[in-house]
Amino acid sequence: MTNIEQLVDEIVKRIQPEITTNTVLVEGSGRHVHLDRATIDALFGEGYQLTKAKDLSQPGQYACKERITIASGKNSFQNVVILGPERQASQVEISATDATTLGLRVPVRESGDIAGTPGIVLINGERSVILKTGLIVAKRHIHMTEEDARRFKVTKGEIVQVKIDGYRPLIFDDVVIRVSDKFATTMHIDYDEANACGLKPGSRGEVLKKSGL
Ligand SMILES: [Zn+2]
Repeated sequence: MTNIEQLVDEIVKRIQPEITTNTVLVEGSGRHVHLDRATIDALFGEGYQLTKAKDLSQPGQYACKERITIASGKNSFQNVVILGPERQASQVEISATDATTLGLRVPVRESGDIAGTPGIVLINGERSVILKTGLIVAKRHIHMTEEDARRFKVTKGEIVQVKIDGYRPLIFDDVVIRVSDKFATTMHIDYDEANACGLKPGSRGEVLKKSGL
């Protein structure tokens, strides 16, 4: 490389750190529900179609206009957002703080892994549904495209650490990698975790391989 090329390379690295280093966009997910057809029918009426309000970072995923209440015997949360499209099985994702407020012991699970998890009551006005299972605290995870997984040298199901910089820096452990070309590369944490690391819109996290530690 000539001196000029080296200089250009250096400048590009400085202005595009997100491309030249192992960082991913980090987003905080608030409490939300995914609903199956039977639950939508019971809460909103037979054949009801949920209304898309806002696209999310993951392609095809969206927040709906409709909101519901989730309730335990001890407490409840109103205005809980429904994420579409509909799922094969209903699932409610809350933070560990929410679990305490509801007075429930809720396991940390990957999305979709709901066997043996507690249930909760879903309410829409006069209608309600008792979910027998499906209440989880989502395990922190990174959605990755196949291409990014190769670039980051990680594989599906691998556990990594992620370092978040900012005014309250923190290294998260036990972060699971999920790989699909249906994803956009993004890390998801809940609001407890977002508050713990002082997350701001646009915050990025550095992916650290466990084997390299
Ligand atoms: Zn996610």
